[in-house]
Amino acid sequence: MPTGACGINCDVCKLRLLEICSTCGSGKSPDAHKKLDAQKRIFGGTCIILECACMNHLEYCMRDCDAFPCDNFSLGPYPFSQGFLDMQKRRRKQRPPALSHNTTPVSVPPEYWEILQEKDIPALCNLALAEPHPPGGLRFRFLQEDILLDIGASCLKRLKKGKWEKSDDPLLELVTLVYLTHVKSFHPLGRDIVGTRDLREAHFFQGPHELKTRPLLERYGNDLDGFRKAAEHLGGKAIDMADAAYLLFPFPRVPLYYLFWEGNEEFRPRMSVLFDRSIEESFAADAIWGLVSRVSTALLTGPDETLSISA
Ligand code: SF4
Ligand code: SF4
Repeated sequence: MPTGACGINCDVCKLRLLEICSTCGSGKSPDAHKKLDAQKRIFGGTCIILECACMNHLEYCMRDCDAFPCDNFSLGPYPFSQGFLDMQKRRRKQRPPALSHNTTPVSVPPEYWEILQEKDIPALCNLALAEPHPPGGLRFRFLQEDILLDIGASCLKRLKKGKWEKSDDPLLELVTLVYLTHVKSFHPLGRDIVGTRDLREAHFFQGPHELKTRPLLERYGNDLDGFRKAAEHLGGKAIDMADAAYLLFPFPRVPLYYLFWEGNEEFRPRMSVLFDRSIEESFAADAIWGLVSRVSTALLTGPDETLSISA
């Protein structure tokens, strides 16, 4: 792999073509160790970024390290300008855009809020394992986070420094409203675990509506420990399936199973998302797509109270 741990792409550098310089490779590659040895031999010291990525078993700082941009970048002489590092810092706090399966921005139909206003809140709380939050609200856990659904004000709220603050998270709002306006019963979980191909609307998930798992595969396909850390951060429970698998609860009675298989010389890494069959009772195919998209984004970004809406 010609891209260095820092993110510089040696593939497009003339110094590599002229064999004046060699690629660093990712922090997990044999190239990286060769380069460190060569640096020690020639310069008497090594690139701190490459050294650090190797030590932490991370392929690429910008993609794989939660600490990026760290002091090794901002205090060191290269490779990026302070302007670039500041931009990275700032944009990493943005909430990724909320897109539907059609890649259009998610919009929340106001009718869902009107339907909720007619519901018996204590009964709904029993169905969804939520807690009434008078007047006219309910509180539930989404992954590791407490969320308040303020039905009177038609908005979601998050706890910030002990105060509930309105949160602009359209995809979470939409899947929450779909769930709470459709849930009618609950079932024992874990008896019938299925993939998209086993769902009634299996045809929906083909072609352009495939579950959006590619970014997760890019990030964690060769870093199962990174996946374990991210899943545990979201309150996931390790389960004995695949090479690494976690049970996550976006809603208390709606489990999602994320499974990863490590790649090798013959096979690329793979991943799969499975469901409890009961998900079909409350979610149509497009809402399942949205739920997986929202949870997968949380696995990529990690929970960050400071996320703001995307620019
Ligand atoms: S900054 Fe370090 S890791 Fe990046 S290309 Fe240079 S020597 Fe390699
Ligand atoms: S701490 Fe910095 S140099 Fe080390 S792996 Fe993370 S981003 Fe790279």
